[in-house]
Amino acid sequence: MHVDSLACFECGKTYPKTELRYRCDCGGSLEIIYRYDEIKGKISWSRLRKRKFNHWRYREFFPIIKDKHIISLGEGGSPLVHSRKIGTCGNVHFKCEGISQTGSFKDRGTTVELSKALELGATEVVAASTGNMGASISAYAAAAGLKATIYVPTGSPHEKIEQMHSYGAHVVPVKHGGYVQAAKYAYRDFKKKQIYLLGDYAYRGEGEKSVAFELADEMKKIDHVICPIGNGTLISGMWKGFRELKMTGMIKKLPKMIGVQAAGCNTVVRAFNTGLEIKAVTPKTIAGAIAVGDPSDGDKAIAALKESDGTATVVSDKEILTARREMARHEGIDCEPCGAVAWAGIKKLKLPADAVKVAIVTGHGLKDLENL
Ligand SMILES: *Cc1c(COP(=O)(O)O)cnc(C)c1O
Repeated sequence: MHVDSLACFECGKTYPKTELRYRCDCGGSLEIIYRYDEIKGKISWSRLRKRKFNHWRYREFFPIIKDKHIISLGEGGSPLVHSRKIGTCGNVHFKCEGISQTGSFKDRGTTVELSKALELGATEVVAASTGNMGASISAYAAAAGLKATIYVPTGSPHEKIEQMHSYGAHVVPVKHGGYVQAAKYAYRDFKKKQIYLLGDYAYRGEGEKSVAFELADEMKKIDHVICPIGNGTLISGMWKGFRELKMTGMIKKLPKMIGVQAAGCNTVVRAFNTGLEIKAVTPKTIAGAIAVGDPSDGDKAIAALKESDGTATVVSDKEILTARREMARHEGIDCEPCGAVAWAGIKKLKLPADAVKVAIVTGHGLKDLENL
């Protein structure tokens, strides 16, 4: 709505807002820049709160121009549940993204990304996914009447692949090379056949900001936001969301962002803790949705951790499964392994007991019935 341009996160080069671009010429990831003064003049909490509590309440902060392009399946407005038992290390809240239409927060990114694709005239879309993004894109493409092709590494939970099939997507298994190879195939289809590419690019991050908007809307005080990191799009999207709220005078204080990865896929955490460059790895973890060996928004995720004065840790598969079990048995919140990563991280980091902590529970338990 109030988009000014696309800017490279690495070198600062800007591109016109009408240009479809995935990366900068230098290889850096892109960010959408708004005219914040304009937004500031138009919104206030009391104005926003007259609208329904869901993702689109904050539409001034999304890069869609006309309402007619919006494809929504009622995403956002997810429950914030105060821990009753297991939050013994203090004030823990669970933001339960598993209730979304396709069972993960990915729907927040997809509604923006797919609406933008329609606005730019797409008739067919392609993406790579470890499961959840593909399920989400398949659903929204079905709603929009677009054909969707999803490249999925073999070994992804069959529940997620069945979701894609039921929405009528064309699912292509990728036998070798995991998510990174799947992403290369999707990019090839874009380059060679001009099929509209979806994935962890700037417009998806824009959609995922709405987790931050809802938290700021609902809570008086937030000290720490704890979040799993795969490609790093969610944590950096949320951080951009909080910063935009501050820039437009909607909040005064920014929370600390805390990133958690699986020990068998520690790309961002290792770089953050050592100060070295991100090194690609071959992921080895049962937490499939964060098994991304070469995170596309890794640098943005590190910036979110640093700028917010946050921290990061890894957790083992065993710690993740214990966390999943605890959340289900003692809180009534069942999530897939990645959904429990934030809670596992809170326990590991021993954050101050009086700090208000929000764990992002990223995906529903029904999405993975094997890793219980
Ligand atoms: C995608 C996903 C993540 C990781 O999010 P990124 O934006 O890739 O960092 C974590 N948990 C679940 C359930 C996911 O689907």
